[in-house]
Amino acid sequence: MDYRRTKRILFFNVFMNCVFISLQDKEKVLLDMVESGGELGWLTWPDQNGWEIAQQAVNGTLLYSYFVCNVEAREQDNWLRTTFIQRHPTATRVFVEMRFLVRDCNSFNAHSLTCKETFNLYASEADADIGTSFRKGQFRKVATIAPDEISRVGNMRFNIETKVVENLSRKGFYLAFQDIGACVAIYSVRVYYKTCPATVKSLAAFPETVAVAGVENQALREVVGACVENAESEDQPRIYCTVDGEWVVPVGHCQCSPGYEAVDDTCQADVCKPGFFKASVSNEACEPCPKNTHPSGPGAVSCPCLEGFYRAPEDPMTGACSGLPSPPKTLTSTTAQMAIGKLELSWSPPGDTGGRSDITYNVVCERCEGSVCLPCGDKVRYEPSNIDIKETSVIVSELEPHLNYTFTVEARNGVSQLSSQRATSTISTALHYTDPPSVTGMRLVERSAKSLSLSWSVSRRANPSTIHYKLMYCKKEKDEAKTCKTFTVLFLEKNTAEIGGLSPSTVYLFQVQALSPESKVGSNSVEEEFSTLPEVGSTAVILGAVAGGGVILLIVLVVLLLRKRRKNSHTRQGPEDAYFSSSEQLKPLKTYVDPHTYEDPNTAVLKFASEIHPSHITKQKVIGAGEFGEVFRGILKVPGRKEAAVAIKTLKPGYTEKQRQDFLSEASIMGQFSHQNIIRLEGVVTKFKHAMIITEYMENGALDKYLRDHDGEMLSFQLVGMLRGIAAGMKYLSDMSYVHRDLAARNILVNSNLECKVSDFGLSRVLEDDPEGTYTTSGGKIPIRWTAPEAIAYRKFTSASDVWSFGIVMWEVMAFGERPYWDMSNHEVMKAINEAFRLPAPMDCPSAVYQLMLQCWLQDRSKRPRFQDILSLLDKLLKSPDSLKTIADFDPRVSIRLPSTSGSDGSPFRSVSEWLESIKMSQYSENFSMAGIVSMEQVLQMKSEDIRNIGVRLPGHLKRIAYSILGLKDQTSTLSVFAV
Ligand code: AMP
Repeated sequence: MDYRRTKRILFFNVFMNCVFISLQDKEKVLLDMVESGGELGWLTWPDQNGWEIAQQAVNGTLLYSYFVCNVEAREQDNWLRTTFIQRHPTATRVFVEMRFLVRDCNSFNAHSLTCKETFNLYASEADADIGTSFRKGQFRKVATIAPDEISRVGNMRFNIETKVVENLSRKGFYLAFQDIGACVAIYSVRVYYKTCPATVKSLAAFPETVAVAGVENQALREVVGACVENAESEDQPRIYCTVDGEWVVPVGHCQCSPGYEAVDDTCQADVCKPGFFKASVSNEACEPCPKNTHPSGPGAVSCPCLEGFYRAPEDPMTGACSGLPSPPKTLTSTTAQMAIGKLELSWSPPGDTGGRSDITYNVVCERCEGSVCLPCGDKVRYEPSNIDIKETSVIVSELEPHLNYTFTVEARNGVSQLSSQRATSTISTALHYTDPPSVTGMRLVERSAKSLSLSWSVSRRANPSTIHYKLMYCKKEKDEAKTCKTFTVLFLEKNTAEIGGLSPSTVYLFQVQALSPESKVGSNSVEEEFSTLPEVGSTAVILGAVAGGGVILLIVLVVLLLRKRRKNSHTRQGPEDAYFSSSEQLKPLKTYVDPHTYEDPNTAVLKFASEIHPSHITKQKVIGAGEFGEVFRGILKVPGRKEAAVAIKTLKPGYTEKQRQDFLSEASIMGQFSHQNIIRLEGVVTKFKHAMIITEYMENGALDKYLRDHDGEMLSFQLVGMLRGIAAGMKYLSDMSYVHRDLAARNILVNSNLECKVSDFGLSRVLEDDPEGTYTTSGGKIPIRWTAPEAIAYRKFTSASDVWSFGIVMWEVMAFGERPYWDMSNHEVMKAINEAFRLPAPMDCPSAVYQLMLQCWLQDRSKRPRFQDILSLLDKLLKSPDSLKTIADFDPRVSIRLPSTSGSDGSPFRSVSEWLESIKMSQYSENFSMAGIVSMEQVLQMKSEDIRNIGVRLPGHLKRIAYSILGLKDQTSTLSVFAV
């Protein structure tokens, strides 16, 4: 029987059932007998009677197998060698998977002794293909291949056996199958090595890795990976590849970068969609943008703050943005109950904290003198501190008296440092000592028989110009104790006094008290007694001198006499002469000529005024009433000259010649002046029955009325500008040695450009013309409220008395036409002035302007500024408007006069309209009634915003009403006090 044929048939049939398993990714095949197809070109040895190749078409594919079945012959040694298999450089270990059939030896009965049921696997390494040269000795045995299943006829059993060839090191190798007498068919040989395939685990990518033993033959091989794109890890990710091609134990943790969110094995930016953000390296999802931020774009790592909102450095980027706080509210300063030099600032927290709780405050102090403000420096103390305070009050000490301080309190929170904007509230306050300084010593400077000169000093530093003194003295009766029962009182601005009119050889008791500006009450007084000298030439003295043989006394007498003479001569010259002769060295180019020096006043008129023909004048409308007749607005049309608007003053019919001359004398005076701020004379009509004086037309009429009509509507700067014009006009007049005598706002005219011009000139007008003119004891008619004390007392009218009047005009202007000294009688005014009281600062009056007024009202006329000084100071103020920002202290109780009939219930007015009328705000009566404010009780409840809400818009009016309410509330207010 031909076994071979039998076996071939037997084996070939098996192909039909052959199962091809798919290759796994991790197996890298170096040789695959089935896959290669075609003739494999394997070497068989010996050439004959050994391994044979068979082929069969299965499903159109040719499949090959090797078989051998020499079970009958003895000592079989048949080799089947593969082609050269290239090795992967790192694959030191390869797997050889064989599929084969082995026939059961028992199925060959006769030859059971020589029949084998195993074959051997050999391997031989080489660096290159050695072709057909085959030497058995070069092969090492890998394994004996024994079948698990033996095949019998009709029962074919496939075996799959995998053997490992290890420690390979050369470029390639050969495998060989040795048959030693079995009946074997090999259908498939697959040679492969294993890898751990490229993978991504926990966002870390690991490369494909050959699965071979690791260091020291460990079964695990450490592999270093890298985080996937847009992921990061603190430690390098690692993993282990087993020899079986399995990844195990990943180490290290990759997480998506900011702005990226994990999707499967990747980190994606577009998952973090607009309006969302992810700030950190994490595997968290993106979060929605927090409060006060811009919605972010895709893949945002943070959401930027909206404009005006910030994140403090310590704020997390994931947190909301916060804004600046609003300024501290209701900043107030209190000096009450505080010791000298201290005040307490307190405020309320800002309404808006910017959404934060870390509010602190900084306090900045500036001290202001005039318009100049400087930092307060280190000297000033703050309790608890001036920076970074959490409290809402601070006690400021070591302040100096009589300086204006400005305190700025800034509310800050954690983001304030990120903005240049400041949330500040400012308060200005002048610290006045509540008690005046005390007088420390009084001494006699000089004495005579009828006078005593005294001086004294004050205890501590204080602005001397703001301290005034009250000197009381009386004659000391012999039997009297050291106090006076009745005494004379003098109010003084200086710490010296010269008391005249005393009796010779008499002891006088003196008491001096210092008065600080606001206290009005004196400190403890110092008492001294001094006596006058005996009368010069009195028998007693001469006798005394002779009796004492007193040559020395004689010398003293001579010295005293000389002094007296020198003093007398000084008195004769008079301080006002010094005032004009010493300082006004520069004589004006032109000097005013008194028309009375002309024998015929008509000559004077013709000399200084040009005659106008009445036909050139057209009267249009009565605009005022003068002492001598009506004043018209009209047109002047002189042939060859431009038509001009003019004011026409007429002389009423029935005048006397004296009245006519007085009337025209104004033109004689006016005609001598030519200045921007002096009303310009166009001409006169004298040659006709109806005499007329024609002047330039001033559209806005008299200044006092104009200001009353525009109360609160003009800025300090504009008001000071008007004063500047008046001062310039007055300087011109004083340069021409003209003394006006009736300078008052009612005598200033205002044109359409709000230029102010001095008007109302005339010789008799002070006596006749001015409704304010009051007969004085000396017989003259004088506008008391505007006139300097020396002019009232002894008719000493000089430019210095005009300066006093200018001070009153300044006050009228700054008070928008308020009547000086309100409803006080002329007598009360004179008394107050003599007692050193002065008008208080008008509301909102710049401090520098008020100081200038006070200078104009110095008792000693030689100390008053000259118009030249006034003009240059006003110019200076106008050049630096900041200098007008410091506002003089204003006392509403004094400056808005409340009726003296104030009731005990605190509401002296019977109706709201009566009250409004008293404060000259009647125009708002309807606003109050429309708003339902019909009783004074309701008025007292009103706050600033309520006043604004009912329609009072002008700041001046708002203040006037608010201050009045304040004054009404303050029952303790002393209404008549306005001491300076
Ligand atoms: P007098 O007689 O100068 O006091 O003038 C009486 C009033 O007439 C003044 O108060 C003004 O209202 C008005 N008045 C006088 N002169 C002028 C003028 N030049 N332009 C406009 N109004 C004038």
